[in-house]
Amino acid sequence: MATLYYENDADPTLIHARKVAVLGYGSQGHAHARNLTESGVDVRVGLRTGSSSRRKAEEAGLRVTTVADAVKESDVIVLLLPDTEQQSVYDTQIAPHLSAGDCLMFAHGFNIRFGQIVPPPDVDVAMVAPKGPGHLVRRTYAEGAGVPSLVAVHQDATGSAHALALSYAHAIGATRAGVLDTTFAEETETDLFGEQAVLCGGMTALVMAGYETLVEAGYQPESAYFECLHEMKLIVDLMYEQGIAGMRYSISDTAEYGDLTRGPRVIDEHVRAEMRQILSDIRDGSFAQEWIEENRAGRPQFTKLREDGKQHPIEQVGADLRAMMPFVAAGRERVEDASGG
Ligand code: NAD
Ligand code: MG
Repeated sequence: MATLYYENDADPTLIHARKVAVLGYGSQGHAHARNLTESGVDVRVGLRTGSSSRRKAEEAGLRVTTVADAVKESDVIVLLLPDTEQQSVYDTQIAPHLSAGDCLMFAHGFNIRFGQIVPPPDVDVAMVAPKGPGHLVRRTYAEGAGVPSLVAVHQDATGSAHALALSYAHAIGATRAGVLDTTFAEETETDLFGEQAVLCGGMTALVMAGYETLVEAGYQPESAYFECLHEMKLIVDLMYEQGIAGMRYSISDTAEYGDLTRGPRVIDEHVRAEMRQILSDIRDGSFAQEWIEENRAGRPQFTKLREDGKQHPIEQVGADLRAMMPFVAAGRERVEDASGG
């Protein structure tokens, strides 16, 4: 049985009794730092000297210092740096300044799960992982709501790591939506699997394959774009609001019959076998090893694939069509404001 925590399950005083260092001011960092501050928590933001995020953080009324100083003066250290940067920052600027009883807080378990960061035994290691992008963690908090989150404890040196993590989750607004107990392993493995097989990799490959099939058969690219990409959100919104059965209630019987009989032909046993292989590569660490090596090598493959993706014709067709639908990108400034640098 899953354990979920809500507002009354957290003790807000625990995080108020601490000094919190938020390291990084990107998507998650800006949201955590601002929500914590508005919840009355003592926060400082740790950034690189010369970071372009410094001005944004200061404009939001936050105190900014170096990573090392933020760690020295705090007893809760929140790693909201890119996952690929965390190990080197931890080794050089965090580990030397940790004290017994401090809490290292993560928003994703990658570096703990795959042994890139091995904290000393006398500190707490916990996670509060919002299940949504940082700009929504900020926006929903400001609106009085929150983003559902996961909570986990990897190491409980003080005996109060879990209660402290829940108190932190309360202060960023997460207990308003629901906080689910998990482990670093489950969070990391399901998160990687979801983004690879379903949410990002699976969905973009499905959209592109559908678009290419229609264009190769001679249909207008604009028609293929509306059908395979634009309408995706409308259907996903229905699933998000009412589940798959609710979405099927809203579509025509013809669409529903096609869905029920053709969907399993697209996502067939071959695709499921590949999903199991992708999950296996995550669990045995081979995906993590590949990504760590790709970063050490300066990201040659990643950069090429990213550039190739931008050159695909669907991007030009989409840019032209979206220019005629400015309302589609109405939330975009918020996303850009929220991202650090
Ligand atoms: P991000 O890339 O948006 O921001 C990272 C921040 O760290 C930036 O402010 C950047 O300037 C700073 N930074 C980068 N290198 C640094 C260095 N060497 N020293 C000091 N500062 C440095 O990152 P993010 O997407 O917010 O991810 C942070 C953590 O949150 C990750 O563990 C990620 O997995 C997790 N997470 C992210 C999301 C999301 O919505 N993006 C959702 C859930 C969990
Ligand atoms: Mg994720």
